[in-house]
Amino acid sequence: MTSNTSLQQRRLSAVPRGVGNAFPIFADRAEGSEVWDVEGRRYIDFAGGIAVLNTGHRHPKVLAAVHEQLDKYTHTAFQVLPYEPYIELAERLNELAPFHGDAKTILFSTGAEAVENAIKTAKAHTSRSGVIAFTGAFHGRTMLAMSLTGKVAPYRKKFGPGVAGVYHVPFPAPEHGVSVAETLRALEFLFRADIEPSEVAAIIIEPVQGEGGFHPAPNELLEELRRICDQHGIVLIADEIQTGFARTGKMFGIENTTIEPDLITVAKSLAGGFPLSAVVGKAAIMDAAEAGGLGGTYAGSPVACAAALAVLDVIFEEKLVERANVVGAKIKAAVSRAAQRNDTVAIAGLRGPGAMVAFDIVKSRGGSEPNADATKRVVQAAIADGLVLLSCGVHGNTIRILVPLNVPDAVLEEGLARLERALAVANV
Ligand code: PMP
Repeated sequence: MTSNTSLQQRRLSAVPRGVGNAFPIFADRAEGSEVWDVEGRRYIDFAGGIAVLNTGHRHPKVLAAVHEQLDKYTHTAFQVLPYEPYIELAERLNELAPFHGDAKTILFSTGAEAVENAIKTAKAHTSRSGVIAFTGAFHGRTMLAMSLTGKVAPYRKKFGPGVAGVYHVPFPAPEHGVSVAETLRALEFLFRADIEPSEVAAIIIEPVQGEGGFHPAPNELLEELRRICDQHGIVLIADEIQTGFARTGKMFGIENTTIEPDLITVAKSLAGGFPLSAVVGKAAIMDAAEAGGLGGTYAGSPVACAAALAVLDVIFEEKLVERANVVGAKIKAAVSRAAQRNDTVAIAGLRGPGAMVAFDIVKSRGGSEPNADATKRVVQAAIADGLVLLSCGVHGNTIRILVPLNVPDAVLEEGLARLERALAVANV
C-alpha cells in the first residue's frame, strides 16, 4: 500500500518547498464533506479545498455535467472556436451580478488571473495606472496579484519590489486596533503624499478578508470608498474569490453591505473543484480592453464551464444561500460552547457572516494577544483526530472554517465535536 510517509519523501525530493503543504497527508478519494487518505483513513473536511467546495466534493450533478461535456469536446480555445457553455455561464453570472445595470463577464482559470484582468480592465477603462489595496489583503501569487497582496511573509518575501503604482492602506479590524477613521486618514495622506486620486485606476477590497483573517470590511468604509470612487472616476473592485457563491449567506459577500462595486472577481467555489475564474463587471467598463488584450489558452475551459453551470443550479436547488446561515449558526454555537469551557485554549473574536466563520486563539481568556503556537497545536490536534482545519490571519492565530455548505448535519456535528476536542487537547 502507498503510505503517506513514502509519498512525503517523494514529494520532498521531487517538488520545491515554495509550494507549502498544510499536512503530509495524501488524498486518495473524497465525497461530499469527507476525504480518505492513501492509507484509508477518513477525514472530515472543514477546509473545502480552501473555499472551493461550497457544493462539496464530487457533487453528482456537477460530475454528470462534466461527464456530458467530456463526451463532446474538452478544449477548442475560446479565442479560436468559441462555445455555448462559456456564453451561458457569462449570461448566468451577469444576471447574478451584485450591481444594477448591464453586466458582462470574461472567464479565466485562477483567482490571481481574475484579479490581474480586473485591474487591467480598470487601467484600460480609466487610462490610469495607480491601484490601491489593503494591508492583510490576499489577491494571489502572480506578480501583479502578489503586489496587491498586503502581507510580506511568505507571499512577497524574496520576490522583489512588485509592480509599480500599487499602494496599501491599513485595513480596519478591531483585532488589529485599526479604526475606519484611521484607514480613511491613511487614504487621505496617500492622496496627498504619493498619488492623486485622478491617477488611480482602481481600489480593490475583499468584502471579508479571507487569508487575512476573516475580517469583514466595515460598511462605513465601503460607503466612503464608493463615494471616493464615484467622485474621482475610480473603479471599485470587490474580490469575491473567497466570499463568493453563498459562503457568506448571500450569493456574494458584498450583498451583506449597502454598496455596489463596479467589478467583482470570482473563482474557487464557482466551478466546484474545476479551475475557473471570472471578472463580472459593469458593461460600460468591461469593453475597455482591445480585442486580444485579455484571455488565455485555457481561460473558460468548457469542462469547467459545464461544472460551474451545474454548481449554480445546485446552489439554487439546495438553497445553499439560506443553508450557509444555518451551518454558520451551528459552528458559532459549538465554538461559543468551547469558549465557555475552562479546559480549552483561550478563544476570542468569533466572527463572520453566514458560514464564513473564524475565531482567534489568544494567550489568555478575555485577552487579545495572538497565540500562533497554540493555533498550530489546534490544527495538529484536529488532523490527528481526522479533521482538516485551516488557520489564517496576519498573526497566524485565526482558525477558519470553510466546510461545504451542503454538509449533512451529522457530519457537521461530528466535525464540530472533533474541533472542540482539538481546542482542549491543544491547551497544554
Ligand atoms: N483573492 C482571494 C480573496 C483569495 O482568497 C485567493 C486565494 N486564496 C485569490 C485571490 C487567489 O486565487 P488563486 O489561488 O486561485 O490564484
